[in-house]
Amino acid sequence: MAIETINPANGETVETFEAHSADEVQQRIAAAHDAFHQLKSTTYAQRAAWMHATAEILEADVDKTAEMITLEMGKPIAQSRAEVLKCAKNMHFYADNAESFLGAEALDDPSSVNAASAGTVWQPLGVVLAVMPWNYPLWQVIRFAAPALMAGNTGLLKHASNVPLSALYLDELFERGGFPTGSFRTLLIGSREVAAVIEDPRVKAVTLTGSEPAGRSVAATAGQVIKKAVLELGGSDPFIVMPSADIEAAAATAVKARVSNNGQSCIAGKRFIVHTDVYDQFVDAFVAKMNALTVGDPMDESTDVGPLATESGRTDVADLVDDAVAKGAEVLAGGGAPDRPGWYYNPTVLAGLTDDMRIVMEETFGPVASVYRVADRDEAVRVANQTTFGLSSAVWSNDADEQDWFVGALDAGAVFLNGMTVSYPELPFGGIKDSGYGRELAAAGIREFCNLKTVWKA
Ligand code: NAP
Repeated sequence: MAIETINPANGETVETFEAHSADEVQQRIAAAHDAFHQLKSTTYAQRAAWMHATAEILEADVDKTAEMITLEMGKPIAQSRAEVLKCAKNMHFYADNAESFLGAEALDDPSSVNAASAGTVWQPLGVVLAVMPWNYPLWQVIRFAAPALMAGNTGLLKHASNVPLSALYLDELFERGGFPTGSFRTLLIGSREVAAVIEDPRVKAVTLTGSEPAGRSVAATAGQVIKKAVLELGGSDPFIVMPSADIEAAAATAVKARVSNNGQSCIAGKRFIVHTDVYDQFVDAFVAKMNALTVGDPMDESTDVGPLATESGRTDVADLVDDAVAKGAEVLAGGGAPDRPGWYYNPTVLAGLTDDMRIVMEETFGPVASVYRVADRDEAVRVANQTTFGLSSAVWSNDADEQDWFVGALDAGAVFLNGMTVSYPELPFGGIKDSGYGRELAAAGIREFCNLKTVWKA
């Protein structure tokens, strides 16, 4: 795939970039390796000062950076600004908390292991490669980079080929904040060059956020060379609505959960599973709100839904909808692309879905909602758990026993009760099943790329 920025709002090429040569890739890996030897011997306080300074640069750059994101991948501009500020928040969070997350621990009774003292310390691993997607071009990267650098690791970024401006902005960002040269480096390479970087002995681990096929490929390479991997892959999250819920609030949040980021979020509510007693009330409200969304230029502050990021992404969404409709699905809203340049797709609601339709099992990466009518909570969970994914989930119910029951029954990395899934620096984030393994954010996220070293002393 060419490394180029194409404006998805009109399909025009903004800028094309040469991939880094093999020599340049080697130099960048060497720089990250050298920087690790410096960074690992700095104090938490020093790294925290650089991380806060880097976050302040992002905060100062918010407007121009938000415009860059919207230009490259079509997210409504207000959401781009929110993404940039969330990155800065995450950097401040790890600057403030890394030391306590990675504190040494000692056994209260070391005599139980025949020692005078015994416990654990956390140590950084070295250079970590991050293979990242375009849908949150800054957030996905910072989510990895802030904890990695605070732990004393260094980072290499292979970003998605359609967001090179974001990739190059990130290439300089940490150095601007004071981190040693090479602490974080972008590799402008195609996905075929990724395996060789993982195999390089100077690279100690890899994290990938992206699709299931990319995850399988990266994990297979990491497995061959026995390197740690974290995988944050796709999702087809259920959003369950039960009779005791506030239906109007559920419908309003459901729209946000489905169309935020133009529907291209791994943790979007994608399948709306509604108890039969409140199905008509929920669906009427949901469809009305989906129809009321403004589809348009993502640079316009009043736009709710911009274009999909790539032409092939729109084709994938259209194919899923067309397949379902050909097999008898009912279109309650939308159902096609508007007649305008760019890679837009109308907010769409489908009902009457049957198991032979691809959309029932596959991820829909665009503003298309599937609605299911269920008789009771057992059927709700059966439908919720029937895909191969297990990223997050949402349940709307005001019955405390029912909430607990769903928390236990859903196969997912998270359950959000009476809300939509959102990632927070303070909470672990990640999935099970084909949504991947490992966790980002919170204490769990910074520990993924550290060695938990046991120290025993006679
Ligand atoms: P993608 O095609 O898998 O690309 C993600 C990254 O992987 C890109 O940098 C891509 O490079 C690279 N890549 C693709 N195939 C590869 C391979 N065989 N070996 C090594 N690298 C490879 O995914 P996407 O379309 O950009 O993103 C959408 C997917 O990401 C969705 O499934 C979404 O749910 C998932 N996602 C998950 C999370 C999460 O936290 N769980 C968050 C966001 C997105 P090129 O661009 O050069 O192909």
